[in-house]
Amino acid sequence: MDNNAISEWQQILGEAYVIVEESCLQALETATFSTDQSVSAVLKPATSEEVQACLKVANHYHIPIYPISTGNNWGYGSSVPTVSGSVVMDLGRMNQIVDFNEDLAYVTLEPGVTQRQLYTFLKDQKSSLWMDATGSSPDCSIIGNTLERGFGHTPYGDHFAHSCGMEVVLPTGELIHTGFGRFENSQAKSIYAWGVGPWLDGLFSQSNFGIVTQMTIWLMPAPEYFQAFYFSIDQEDKLPGLINALRPLRLNGTIKSAVHIGNHYKVLSSMQQYPWALTQGTTPLPEEVLSELIGNLGIGVWNGSGALYGTHRQVAEARRLIATALRGKVKRLQFLDDQILEFAAQFAKPYQWMTGLNLSRVLQVLKPVYGLMKGIPTETQIASTYWRKKDPVSKANMDPDRDRCGLMWCAPIAPLDGDHAVKVRDIAYRVLGDEFEPMISITLLTERSLSCLITISFDRDQPGEDEKAQSRFHILSQKLAEFGYYPYRIGIQDKVLEKTDSSNQKLLTTIKQSLDPENILSPKRY
Ligand SMILES: Cc1cc2nc3c(=O)[nH]c(=O)nc-3n(C[C@H](O)[C@H](O)[C@H](O)COP(=O)(O)OP(=O)(O)OC[C@H]3O[C@@H](n4cnc5c(N)ncnc54)[C@H](O)[C@@H]3O)c2cc1C
Repeated sequence: MDNNAISEWQQILGEAYVIVEESCLQALETATFSTDQSVSAVLKPATSEEVQACLKVANHYHIPIYPISTGNNWGYGSSVPTVSGSVVMDLGRMNQIVDFNEDLAYVTLEPGVTQRQLYTFLKDQKSSLWMDATGSSPDCSIIGNTLERGFGHTPYGDHFAHSCGMEVVLPTGELIHTGFGRFENSQAKSIYAWGVGPWLDGLFSQSNFGIVTQMTIWLMPAPEYFQAFYFSIDQEDKLPGLINALRPLRLNGTIKSAVHIGNHYKVLSSMQQYPWALTQGTTPLPEEVLSELIGNLGIGVWNGSGALYGTHRQVAEARRLIATALRGKVKRLQFLDDQILEFAAQFAKPYQWMTGLNLSRVLQVLKPVYGLMKGIPTETQIASTYWRKKDPVSKANMDPDRDRCGLMWCAPIAPLDGDHAVKVRDIAYRVLGDEFEPMISITLLTERSLSCLITISFDRDQPGEDEKAQSRFHILSQKLAEFGYYPYRIGIQDKVLEKTDSSNQKLLTTIKQSLDPENILSPKRY
């Protein structure tokens, strides 16, 4: 690392915000899978002007910069940069909520604003608006996730589709605004995404074309009434019928939010760690043990959840349509609202006594998912990354990177069609099944698409597991691509974009060269 660059950054940011201590760098070099990229320093700017000035220095000394908002991109690379020797630009100090409009339901944020911060802000404002939350930590950035086109659980679950008006620092240090923000006196920059002329926002998501320093996020008016629904099937061959039965309801707007359908492995890993004692230390999970566990916990082979939002009448009608569509297609269909949930919690003990089903345990899992459908962030889901760890997870202080939890996501998109869901499932089972528990969730993310999330969960402390997981990941990604299923988002380890057709690649390279002639911003990312 060039000492002149360090001292110039220190002049811009102050010494405290240019970090070169080995222990801090090491934490940023650690993901949930094996990586070998080194970090040479961390910069912590507090303003867009500081970001601009830092990038100018990086250009001068040809030093690669990797921006993170909160750096919790677990399963996709965490905060590890794309190339060795990079300087990580941590935008966590830029954590202002710079604008909020209750009437028009939007908020404008800086990248350090977390899910927890926005949730608390809306509560403090006594706002009648809901944010959307992901299942990741409440301490994840809203902008980091939106730029990755991540998703949550409410009707505003497709995050990028509910954002607009970016402020972006280009790799050479210029500042631009997208949409109507290009006009200084624009009245519409936070409420109309497209602006006029070419629409630039897409260029800055999942890319290395700029650092986003502000963005507007649209919020959802809390509905008059909310009801969640849960269903399960107990045979694999019922999966296509279930997906096809839900499609018309998603397409015609009866179901406005993402419906998530998880297989038994996925649900089990959210309820407990790997049953090492029952399996006497062997992996992967034997069929008999799986059957016993899911039987005891009342988990189906596939388990779905979704929610209805509207007036009491709208929800009642949607509920009727769902019950009709799923009749004979599911083993169990339950509707839950706040009242029923409270009642169930009170009577969990006698219920268990009468039926044998551990309702308290089921509610423990159900409640956070129920909350997510109302946009309430939760810490609970991170525990699932400790699935294969041998020590019990300490829920007060979870950090999958530090604790060497092994996690990789493969996230193909498929048409909203039962046969496609089956094809993706079968590929995952075939490629992973003899080593890992292929955890899958299938999300009816938009009206026409399924977002399938395949998890490889392992223990980085077990010799050989890192290599095995990497190898299976690449086979899985390759096999899915062979059948035409490409991911909605990729981690730093994924090579699938090498398959991009050459004319597309040529255009992207031309844009990159023109915006970033020194190739300093996240080289090779996407
Ligand atoms: C148990 C569990 C559950 C999860 N559930 C979900 C879920 O429901 N939905 C979901 O989408 N994800 C989920 N995740 C994945 C991940 O943790 C989240 O997507 C998380 O929000 C990403 O981390 P971050 O917000 O800290 O972004 P960061 O790690 O800061 O950034 C992500 C990427 O964007 C780039 N970037 C960040 N900020 C900027 C910027 N300002 N300008 C330009 N580029 C930038 C970074 O270089 C990086 O490549 C889950 C993970 C786990 C372990």
